[in-house]
Amino acid sequence: MKYEKIRKQVLDAILDAVDQGLIHGTSGNIAMRDDEDDVVAITPSGISYTGMTAEDIAIVDLNGKWLDGPYKPSSEVPMHTAVMRARPDVKATVHTHGMFATIMAMGNDAQLVPVTPPQCEFVPVGIVPFTMPGSDEVADKVVEALGSAGRSVLIKNHGMFCCGKDMKAAMAATVYTEEMATTAYYAKVLGSFEPMPEAGVKKMKELIAADQAV
Ligand SMILES: [Zn+2]
Repeated sequence: MKYEKIRKQVLDAILDAVDQGLIHGTSGNIAMRDDEDDVVAITPSGISYTGMTAEDIAIVDLNGKWLDGPYKPSSEVPMHTAVMRARPDVKATVHTHGMFATIMAMGNDAQLVPVTPPQCEFVPVGIVPFTMPGSDEVADKVVEALGSAGRSVLIKNHGMFCCGKDMKAAMAATVYTEEMATTAYYAKVLGSFEPMPEAGVKKMKELIAADQAV
């Protein structure tokens, strides 16, 4: 099998995301870029992730052209490949409709702020205005909202998109964005909301960057 390593990483990540309740049905898609060739492994479109094998994961080029695999690649290929073209530091990308991230991406005050130290690594979380799923337009807007170093964005009335230097980093961004959205949601329900102080967020980001965060 060609590109076995990245296909397996995509498969493991999508099954992990299903286990964690970040993906419902066939929604959500995950991609991983090859270290040597300009190709990307990505989950196929409309196929149940349960029972999926590494061979079922599609291979596309950096422009989204389908190169290998028995099933059509995810309809969100443009979003994943546009980010990888714009950001050579990004090797893995995750798009999900996590319940709380999707809820928090509905309102006008969709800005997510960190309420616990580990969340600091993934802020600021960008906001992408609603555009049609699968379009080049949504792909361009995700690239713009991520900027040169962003790890996570909310997509209005749709879900979220996260990225990282490897699959572990992209999945961590996804998990902590969903956690930020969940804590923000419940804090709003309680009626009071104290985000972490700005100085604390800055210090945590420094510790995380220096790999000294506990
Ligand atoms: Zn979606």
